This record gives sequence, C-alpha cells and structure tokens, in this order.
Amino acid sequence: MSGAGTRIGFFCDFDGTISENDMIAQIMRRFVPDEAAPLIERVNRRELSIRAGVEAMFALIPSSRFEEVRDFAVHTTRIRAGFDRFVDFAAARSWPITITSGGFDFFVEPAVAPWRDRLTVYCNTLDTTGPNLRVVWPHPCDDACSADCGLCKPTILRKYQGQFDDTIVIGDGVTDFEAARRADFVYARASLRKECEHHNLPHAPFETFDDIVSHLHQTRG
Ligand SMILES: [Zn+2]
Repeated sequence: MSGAGTRIGFFCDFDGTISENDMIAQIMRRFVPDEAAPLIERVNRRELSIRAGVEAMFALIPSSRFEEVRDFAVHTTRIRAGFDRFVDFAAARSWPITITSGGFDFFVEPAVAPWRDRLTVYCNTLDTTGPNLRVVWPHPCDDACSADCGLCKPTILRKYQGQFDDTIVIGDGVTDFEAARRADFVYARASLRKECEHHNLPHAPFETFDDIVSHLHQTRG
C-alpha cells in the first residue's frame, strides 16, 4: 500500500506510549489516592467520560500544590526506548509526527523538549488561578464525535488526514481506539493491541520505538 513517495503522518499518544508510565494515574496515586480511585474506576467502567473523570480528579487537588505536582510529573516521566531514533527516522523522510496527548503541557512539553522542533504537540493545560486545579481542554470533540473525549484524538486526525497518503496511529490505550480505527495502520501495545485484534484493524505490536522503526524499514523501505 505504499511506495517510495508515500507521505505518511504519524499520530502518537504520550502517556504509556512515548512515556512508559501514565502520568495522570501516577499524579492521582501520589497526591489524592483514596479520593481519585473511585473516579478512575468509573472511567474504566465507562460510567464517566474521560473528560468528566479527569476534570473531577484534578479538582481534588488544591492549586497551591501545582508546583509540587509539576515537579513530581517532570521527574517521574520515563521516555520509552528508541523514541529519539524514531524521530530521526521520520524526520529523514519528512514524515511529520503529531503528538495527541490526553495529558498536560506541564509534563508533556519538558519530556519532548529535545525534539520539539520536529514535533507538533496537542495536549491539555491546567488553570491554577482558582482554589483547586481546573482542566482546560483546548482541543475538544468536533460535531462528528460524541464520545466526550476531553482532548479529541479523532477530531485532530480528521483535521490532518487529507494531507497524507497514509496515517499511522501509535498508542496503548482505549483513548487511542477511535483514532486508530480511522487510521490506515496502527502500532499498538497493551489494551489498544487487544482492541485492534478484536476489531481486525491492520496493526503491529511494539514495545519500543526501535520495534516501530524496524517494522517501518521492512514495510516502507
Ligand atoms: Zn471526541
């Protein structure tokens, strides 16, 4: 499905994908474990949308603790092996990488700073001016999405899709599925991999970004 001149666009998740750990879950476990646990359960059971759940979780944390939250997140983020080589590989072919993260600028931006000139980043922000942290969603669902995503990955994919011959989604979780099923190919791990298998989406598993680069070498030259 591809030739030498194929223009590919990558749409890559952050938490659990570029970052080995899920930072929102780690922040909640560190700062408000007892209060956040039932909210996480309700999101996992799909009784609460991701947007509503994440808003309610951050609202548990006083704004006075924001710097502590930020420092904790920045220091616990671990970048998955091979990401630097994946960025080089894509840049050498002029295949753009767009990060679509349900996470927040205060930990996503510092983590990807070494490659920032070669990445487009979509993520959320926090308003720290009130008594408690308030989530700001700059990239909500468009009219074609009713999932109440918060940050809407399919909306972002649709916005760019016409610019590429092929779109490839890279991710690990349920929040990546709606974008994954609109993509031409998926690199999947963890629960996204199970969803791709279940729905017969064209995909390959990965554990490191080196796995993705070697698969791209084999299939795309
Ligand atoms: Zn949406």
